[in-house]
Amino acid sequence: KITPLIAGNWKMNGDAGSFLEVEVIKDHLAANEVNAEVVICPPATLLHRVSVALSESVAKTGAQNCHSAASGAYTGDISVAMVTEAGGEFVIVGHSERRDGYNESNEDVRAKAIAALEGGVVPIVCCGESLEVRESGKAIDVVVEQIIASCPDFTNEQELVVAYEPIWAIGTGKTASSADVDEMHNAIRAALVKRFGEQGAAIKILYGGSVKPANAKELLGVENVNGALVGGASLKADDFWGIISAA
Ligand code: 13P
Repeated sequence: KITPLIAGNWKMNGDAGSFLEVEVIKDHLAANEVNAEVVICPPATLLHRVSVALSESVAKTGAQNCHSAASGAYTGDISVAMVTEAGGEFVIVGHSERRDGYNESNEDVRAKAIAALEGGVVPIVCCGESLEVRESGKAIDVVVEQIIASCPDFTNEQELVVAYEPIWAIGTGKTASSADVDEMHNAIRAALVKRFGEQGAAIKILYGGSVKPANAKELLGVENVNGALVGGASLKADDFWGIISAA
């Protein structure tokens, strides 16, 4: 049985006040038995501070993006080694906000995932279709193609996580129906097993898009949903805890 992963993506949100929320999560995790791995991905400027704040906690941290190169003239970017040095153990790659806003291709995402794996950081490789694609009936084909092209090979010592986030469900309050999530996650699983064999059967496939305490139990109960990638609801400790405890 795969232990679920609940990852919070703060996106470009968070400030010194967010540490109060981190402390509350930390206290909940210390006081309760949890059936999930917990990761918080704050903005890069807060990564080190959040990692220090969680150093005594089971919760881990991650970055929201990284560059595929080890170092160099890449103004504004951060390398995998910088993520590690700041205490991050995960990195989100290929979020739709990066693919759409910064023209990141599957090849770019794959290169970042390779850099993460080589640096000992777990890449959370994201995929997801637009509303247009969903309405055209091609969502499964598009997403499967995207994820297979974005995921690199990895060894048994390395871990790779996949996240399915339908773009139309991100920040909209709309979630995919359990039936649609079930269909998509099963298709992603089948594609991962076809590509990676036994390794593919163990990859965590997270669902993301308007996950909140009220729908977490149902979504996390769907076959092949091995956790959640949470945006807005990860900023408030009570909401994030509600999702963690639903796992
Ligand atoms: P919301 O949970 O705010 O819809 O965001 C989902 C997401 O994009 C997480 O990466």
